[in-house]
Amino acid sequence: MSQENKLNSPIQYLKGVGPKRSKILKNFGIETIEDLFYYFPRRYEDRTNFVSISQLKEKEYQTIKGEVFIKGERKSWRRRGFSIFQLMVRDKTGKISAVWFNQPYLKKLFKNGQSVIFYGRIERYEGALQINSPEFEILDEKDKEEESLNLGRMVPVYSLSEGISQRYFRKLIKHTLDDFISKIQEPLPYDIRKRQDLLNLAQSIINIHFPEDKAIQQKAYQRLAFEEFFFYSIPVALRKLNTKQKQGIAHKIDEIFLTQFIQSLNFRLTSAQERVLAEIKKDMQSPQPMHRLLQGDVGSGKTVVAVISAIIASSGGWQVAFMVPTEILANQHYENIQKQIKRLSKKINLALLTSSLEDKDKQKLYREIREGKIDLVIGTHALIQEELKFKKLGLVVIDEQHKFGVSQRALLPKKGTNPDVLIMTATPIPRTLSMTIYGDLDISVIDQLPPGRVPVETQVFPEERIPEVHDFIKEKIKEGRQAYIVYPIIEESDFLELKAAQKMYDELRKGTFKDFRLGMVHGRLSRQKQDKTMMDFKNGKLDILVATTVLEVGIDVANASVLVIEHAERFGLAQLHQLRGRIGRGQYQSYCILIANPQSPDAISRINAISSMSDGFQIAEEDLKIRGPGEFFGQRQHGLSELKIANPITQLNILQKAREEAMKLIEQDRNLSSRTNLVIREKLNKTFPEFQDLMLVG
Ligand code: ADP
Ligand code: MG
Repeated sequence: MSQENKLNSPIQYLKGVGPKRSKILKNFGIETIEDLFYYFPRRYEDRTNFVSISQLKEKEYQTIKGEVFIKGERKSWRRRGFSIFQLMVRDKTGKISAVWFNQPYLKKLFKNGQSVIFYGRIERYEGALQINSPEFEILDEKDKEEESLNLGRMVPVYSLSEGISQRYFRKLIKHTLDDFISKIQEPLPYDIRKRQDLLNLAQSIINIHFPEDKAIQQKAYQRLAFEEFFFYSIPVALRKLNTKQKQGIAHKIDEIFLTQFIQSLNFRLTSAQERVLAEIKKDMQSPQPMHRLLQGDVGSGKTVVAVISAIIASSGGWQVAFMVPTEILANQHYENIQKQIKRLSKKINLALLTSSLEDKDKQKLYREIREGKIDLVIGTHALIQEELKFKKLGLVVIDEQHKFGVSQRALLPKKGTNPDVLIMTATPIPRTLSMTIYGDLDISVIDQLPPGRVPVETQVFPEERIPEVHDFIKEKIKEGRQAYIVYPIIEESDFLELKAAQKMYDELRKGTFKDFRLGMVHGRLSRQKQDKTMMDFKNGKLDILVATTVLEVGIDVANASVLVIEHAERFGLAQLHQLRGRIGRGQYQSYCILIANPQSPDAISRINAISSMSDGFQIAEEDLKIRGPGEFFGQRQHGLSELKIANPITQLNILQKAREEAMKLIEQDRNLSSRTNLVIREKLNKTFPEFQDLMLVG
C-alpha cells in the first residue's frame, strides 16, 4: 500500500472500532484514518489542577473532579412527568449537587464512590451551589494509560454522541496517531512554512489533539487554519489569474453622451459614486474582463452607477443584461431607467423580462434579444433561461447578489464571450474580509449616502403598545406621509404564515385604519397585482402598504416615512437593516418601529444591534458575530462555510497571509507541476470538484 492509501483506509479495521462504532463515527464524517486526524476537539479542559468545590464561582463555566456520594431521582411536584436526576458530589473542600432534567437513563451510569469530572455552569439554587446538566466523564483510575490521557493535562473534548465516549475517543485518536501519523504527507512547501513560521503537519495534528500546553496548541491551530485557508485560496487565485488572461471587451466610452446622461439626472452624483464610476470605467475600457463587486449600504445609490455602466456599454453597441432578484424590483428599475433615457440623443432599446411574461411575448423578446434589437434587458432569474441567447452581450449587472446562488450568478456571463461583470451587494462587510471572500473580484465601495438624508429613528415597542404605534401612523399620514407595515413571512411558501398576515391585513383595513387606504403585497400574488399595488403606493394612492419580506429588496418611495416591523425578533439582522433601508430615502424624518418581544439571547442581540446602529458595515460585522461565519456565509452558498477549523472572522490575518501565499504560488507555477507542488495538486483534485476545470482553462 502506498503511504497515502494507508491513511485512506477505513477506521473500521482499527483495533477497538468494529462495525458498530464505525457506523456511529461515520455520522460525524469520520470514515478513514485521515478523517480521524482531522476531527478536531471542540474545546480543551485544563485538568492539570481542578477547581476545589469550595472555590467555585457562581455563573461561570468550571471543571471539577469529585466523588459521587449520593444519587437520587426526584419527581417534580410542579409538573407531572417531569423528572429530575440529582447527584451529590464532594471533594476534600466541599460538596455540590449536579442536576439533570428529564434524562432518567443517566441514573444507570452512576454509582456511589465513583470518581467523576464535571464541566458546566455553576448556579445557586435555594441557597446551595449546583451545576446544571453538566458534561461529565466517569473515571477509571485503575487504567494508567487512560489516566495519562484524561487527567493531569490539557484534555481535548470532542463533539460526540451516545455510543462513543470521550475517553474511548481519546484513546482511539491516541493509538491512531501513534501508529499512523508518520505516514502523513506534508502538503505545504517548506519555504512557505518557513516564511510563515508554521509547524509541520504531523506536529500540528498531534498537538491539536493532545497539546502539552496552550502555546503549542495555538501554534498547531494556526498551522491548520493556514492550511485550510491556503487550499481554499488556490482555486480563487486560479480563477483570478484565468480572468486576467482572458480576452475581454475594451468598451469605447462616448464621453459627451455620458455627460449628457449624467446631467439629465435630477441629482448630482456623490463623490463616492463618482469614484466607483471611475473604477468601473477604467475596467470597462480595458481589454481584460471586468469582475467587479460594488458594495454599498442600502440607499447609497448603487443603481444609478450600474445604469451609467449599462449606458456606456449599450451606447457603444453592446448588449447589457441587468439581473435583479424580484419582479417588483425589475419593474421598478425598468420604469426608472425608461424615464431616465427617454430624453437622450441616442436611442437605447429597453426591455423587461420576467417569468410572468406571456409565452408569446417572451418568444418575441427572445428573438429580439437574439437579433440584437434590444440593447438593455432588465429581468429576474428568467434571464438565465437556457433558450435566451444574446447577439453581443457586453455587460452583465447582477443586483443584490446575495439573493442568487453562486451557480446562478455564473450562468449569465456565459451568454456572452467574456463580458464585463458588475455585481452589486447591499451586504457590506469589512473590506479586508470581502477582499478575501470575493477573492477573485475587484471591489468598489460606495461609502457615503446621498446628501440630505435624515437618519432614521429606530424604536422598539412591545406588542401591548401596538395601539400607540397605530395612532402614530395615523398622525404621520395626516401630515402627508405614508407607512409600511411588515409582517414576517420568511418563506413565501409558508401557507399558514401567509394566512396570518392576510388576517392581520383584513383586521387593520376594517378596524383601526378603516378611514385610510391600505394595500398589501406578498410573494404569492401575481406580478401584475404586486406591481399595481406597489405603483399605487408609490403614486400616493395608498396610505399604508402591508407587506411581507418582498419589501426587503429595493422599492423606493421617498414619501414613506414610517416602517413598522411586526415580530421583529423573527427577522435576521441583515434583513432588518435592508427593510429599514426602505425609509429615510427622502427629506422627511423617518421612523422604524420594531414590535418585538425577543426571548432568545440571539434575538435580543439582534434587536439591540438594529436599534443602536445604522451603519451597514457595522451591522454586518455584528451579524457575523451573532450568527457565526458558518451561517453567515452558508446562506450565500459560499465555500468559506465549509471550513472546519479556520474562522475567517477571527483569523482574518491568517486568511490574508494564506491568500498571499496562494497567489504567489499560482503565479509561479500555474499548473502546480513542480515536484514540491504535486501534493497540493493531488489534494485539490480530491477536495475541490471545480478545480479540474480551473486548471484546464488558460
Ligand atoms: P441602493 O444602493 O440601495 O440600490 P438606490 O440606487 O436604490 O440605492 O438609491 C436610493 C435612492 O437614492 C434612489 O431614489 C436614487 O434615485 C437616489 N439617489 C441615488 N444617488 C443619488 C444622489 N447622488 N443624490 C441624491 N439621490 C440619489
Ligand atoms: Mg439597490
